[in-house]
Amino acid sequence: MAIELADDVLRLDRLYIGGEWRRSEDGAEIESMDPSTGRVWAVVAAGGKRDVDLAVAAARQALEGPWAQMPGHERAALLRRFADLYAARAQQLAEMEARDSGRAIREARADIGSHHFGYHWWASLADKASGRTIPFDSTVHAFTSRVPVGVVAAITPWNVPLMAAAWKLGPALAAGCTVVIKPAEQTPVGTLELGKLFEAAGFPPGVVNIVPGHGADDVGEWLVSHPGVDKIAFTGEGATAKAILRKGAETMKRFTFELGGKSPHIIFADADLEQAINAATNSAWTLCGQSCALGSRVLVQRSVYEKVAEAFRQRALNVRVGPAIDPRTHMGPQAHLAQLEKTLSYIAIGQSEGADLLTGGKQLSGGDFGDGYFIQPTVFANVSNDMKIAQDEIFGPVAALIPFDDEDDAVRIANDTRYGLTAGLWTGDTGRAHRVASRIRAGMVWVNTYRFIRWSTPYGGFGASGWGRENGVEALDGYLETRTTVVST
Ligand code: NAD
Repeated sequence: MAIELADDVLRLDRLYIGGEWRRSEDGAEIESMDPSTGRVWAVVAAGGKRDVDLAVAAARQALEGPWAQMPGHERAALLRRFADLYAARAQQLAEMEARDSGRAIREARADIGSHHFGYHWWASLADKASGRTIPFDSTVHAFTSRVPVGVVAAITPWNVPLMAAAWKLGPALAAGCTVVIKPAEQTPVGTLELGKLFEAAGFPPGVVNIVPGHGADDVGEWLVSHPGVDKIAFTGEGATAKAILRKGAETMKRFTFELGGKSPHIIFADADLEQAINAATNSAWTLCGQSCALGSRVLVQRSVYEKVAEAFRQRALNVRVGPAIDPRTHMGPQAHLAQLEKTLSYIAIGQSEGADLLTGGKQLSGGDFGDGYFIQPTVFANVSNDMKIAQDEIFGPVAALIPFDDEDDAVRIANDTRYGLTAGLWTGDTGRAHRVASRIRAGMVWVNTYRFIRWSTPYGGFGASGWGRENGVEALDGYLETRTTVVST
């Protein structure tokens, strides 16, 4: 693959299709902005309609070729080789993600430096998708087999491009599917780089194909409406998921949707407040607020509300905002201009709704911030749960502090949302922990910890937060069909 560095701009001029590095058939390109500088840092080849056809055809051919015949333990060995190569490239991949998405490098290193464990874990499941026998009578032998769902189109977002890719590639390949992956147009670089690792690991041509491009009326939509694609594995916005569902319905595709969240982070007065505040404030600024799992609604019991609110204000002032690539940076910029504008507009809405702006709320520009998309960590107090800033996913570093009275009140507020992705709960009372956790409508409830996410723990949402699960053995189900065979003896 030709990579030339000219004028400090990284150029990746090929797509990865059918095991080859090919120029885009219609010469399309994407310019990726570095949100820390507001300047283009990479130019990446993007797919045209013909490239999508070629990629899907390559994935179909691989599905029906050697990949289909390969025993699970050999697929596992390939995945392990890929995982080792990934581990060796993790630092560079983290730098690419920091440049592409604005994610602080120390956060990117910690996360991407652990992805290889996930790929190894998926490898360990590649030969374990077994069926069962079904008793009937002595004249009939009935049994089930788990078979790959087929060609998967993986469509990923810009906030955590490599994590979203891992959560789809791992189970899809373990299940024996083939994949065409389309990274978000804002952050294509790291995902395209994965092609080199799949190539070096020795995956058969066409098992993984990488085609950057845009969504609507472009690569994303062409994949969704393509009759050669069996399943869409999507992470992104709810509105996009609905558009994908409508388009994909025409060809009866399978879907996994990982969508947004507006997660409650509940702090009871009997909690270890220091730990709870550490977790809640870290969670508020992680990824510059651009994570579906963040506890963006902080529910605090009234007797400790003032104390927690003051701690939030102080901690927000101590967050070191700066260029993503600087290892001292706690919080980088927003990933792109439209997201920065969205966050600023919600801060204005919060003020007009009557919430108290404790600190932050302003764009940071000039000086060290240059033309980057930086914003202050922002804390709103005395938020009521019916305000837009408590109901809508802002996807910026904006914490909304909501007081509550007792368990019932906390549960009522926590569940008063169209989302249901994650929830946090801090209490020193074990009985309360179980009582409250069992009443929360969310796919993941953390008790006295927050954002504990691993490849082995199923992750996904209730309600508007999505369909299906990623991670855990549950994720394999999304990439397998069940075939029942009945043999009359
Ligand atoms: P988005 O929906 O705008 O885009 C996601 C992907 O879909 C991109 O690759 C985009 O090009 C593609 N796309 C857009 N329109 C399309 C169409 N019509 N057909 C096919 N593809 C299309 O989302 P985003 O702004 O990139 O990501 C942010 C969202 O992702 C947030 O809502 C966040 O909560 C969610 N998210 C969820 C999880 C989770 O695990 N639940 C994780 C990360 C992000």
